[in-house]
Amino acid sequence: MTSGEARRLWRAAIKRAWGNKCAYCGATPIDDKSLTIDHVRAKSNGGEDTTSNCIPACPSCNADKGSLEWVGWFRKQDFYDAWTEVEIRHWLQTGDVLRQGTSLHERQIDALTGEPRGAILDEIWNGDEVGVLPVSD
Ligand SMILES: [Zn+2]
Repeated sequence: MTSGEARRLWRAAIKRAWGNKCAYCGATPIDDKSLTIDHVRAKSNGGEDTTSNCIPACPSCNADKGSLEWVGWFRKQDFYDAWTEVEIRHWLQTGDVLRQGTSLHERQIDALTGEPRGAILDEIWNGDEVGVLPVSD
């Protein structure tokens, strides 16, 4: 697996875990390229390049949030939803989303390894052949 393939797989897995929607406003982008990966804690504020700090965001939310503290920004939005905040907080801790739509396949991975999916993704992402690559926003 090349680093480019690993990176694409990693980004796609994060998007899939969130139902291929913006994690903040729920928008469903018209194509894959219009759903970005947002650093919940901005890198400029010490946020890390790990799965648990990265969620899908539409270009509008990503640009509007910028490097603001995410909870303060999110609560001011018209589309704010308390359950979504819980989901994002959980993701920040484990890299695993609390979605009812989580597929059986993904749950089986958890059962087999005892690891949250985020840890598996981090392994893909930070594996020797991949190294740490910047996430393009
Ligand atoms: Zn959005």
